[in-house]
Amino acid sequence: MTETTTTHEPSLEYALELDRNDLLAEYRNEYYIPKGKDGNDLIYFTGNSLGLQPKSTFRMVEQELKDWQTYAVEGHFDATYPWFSYHEMFAEPESRIVGGTPEEVVVMNTLTTNLHLMMVSFYRPTKDRFKIVIEENAFPSDRYAVASQARFHGYDPAEAVVELKPREGENTLRTEDIEEYLEREGEDVALVMMGGVNYYTGQAFEMEKIAAAGHAKGCVVGFDLAHGAGNLLLNLHDWNVDFAVWCTYKYLNSGPGGVSGCFVHERHAFNPDLPRFAGWWGNDPATRFEMPREFVPQRGAAGWQLSNAQILPMAAHWAALQLFDRVGMGNLRAKSEKLTGYLEYLLNEREGFQILTPADSTQRGCQLSIRIGDDAKSMVGKLMERGIVADYRVPDVIRVAPVPMYNSFEDVWRFVEELGVMSAG
Ligand SMILES: *Cc1c(COP(=O)(O)O)cnc(C)c1O
Repeated sequence: MTETTTTHEPSLEYALELDRNDLLAEYRNEYYIPKGKDGNDLIYFTGNSLGLQPKSTFRMVEQELKDWQTYAVEGHFDATYPWFSYHEMFAEPESRIVGGTPEEVVVMNTLTTNLHLMMVSFYRPTKDRFKIVIEENAFPSDRYAVASQARFHGYDPAEAVVELKPREGENTLRTEDIEEYLEREGEDVALVMMGGVNYYTGQAFEMEKIAAAGHAKGCVVGFDLAHGAGNLLLNLHDWNVDFAVWCTYKYLNSGPGGVSGCFVHERHAFNPDLPRFAGWWGNDPATRFEMPREFVPQRGAAGWQLSNAQILPMAAHWAALQLFDRVGMGNLRAKSEKLTGYLEYLLNEREGFQILTPADSTQRGCQLSIRIGDDAKSMVGKLMERGIVADYRVPDVIRVAPVPMYNSFEDVWRFVEELGVMSAG
């Protein structure tokens, strides 16, 4: 479904009409929308950095604090949601976010930590095959992580880490160029590890095709879905992706520093011999408290857990996930394509804004990255003064993420209106 065939109108009345017809409009009321100086709701377009707080989060976290007061150590079994098996509650709803089976997903740790744990199992370089492929301009933590893994195994990152670049004069990578690279050089590549959606350009990579191209040459293929989870319709199992990791504080609205999710395809998840770093919580729960001398990994992605569950941040994640289950990722994505398509339309009606993000809606999530020019930074400051929260990236880009869960068509209209007024003046 692409929005390019839809004809929109530039008026505010039309935006309000779209909001009246939006079946998901009521979900905005489930979130706290921060207020500006004038007491009105901010137009919040940075849900790609930190999602808004669901109104239900407080009660869910409070429940755990109360159960800790009431039960102390007995809470592991007597709490409303017993802590011993707390992580197990997440398998079903989390699997619906990424399109895996419940046994293929686990919620644990934080994102960069999980990326490293996955690379312990899935970056197994040999002297003939040691390269890691990543997109140019990947999120810094991911670049540091892959470079440090290469170095840890004794390779020079300058040689081992390959950054795929867009063609001269283009802003985003072509899938055919990624496929062509893997076809040509894939035999040297141990691991392809890209952002499912690049945080800077907003490009969503065609994960199924990349996984197929990598596998054809014997590479392992994993994705960092920090900007994909809760944003794209994902189908990691069917796409045959080997592993994936994501955070829950961006589109998944689970609070600053929140827990991370991890996907291990069942081809690997049921293999107890796969090398991994082990901890007691990844041990078979039948014997976990018998403290066996030898580690016996639990079946599935849960066998990569190290420590007992982080109940407080996981409670916040639980509250947030309920809303995703109520809406359904399919409905959310359908609204998202409309909302971002409408933003694109309004920007294209005006002069002076170059959109870096692909125009093809299958190759982007909700975010558009807009090249504004030298005054992008001061523009973001001025937008803030007018109650619009967007995000500046060096040298001349602003990123805006209309989040379908809580942003409106009116939000989008007002943003483009202010941007137009500012750049004219
Ligand atoms: C947000 C983000 C991170 C942040 O990592 P943390 O470990 O959660 O601090 C890492 N990688 C990508 C691609 C991101 O978008």
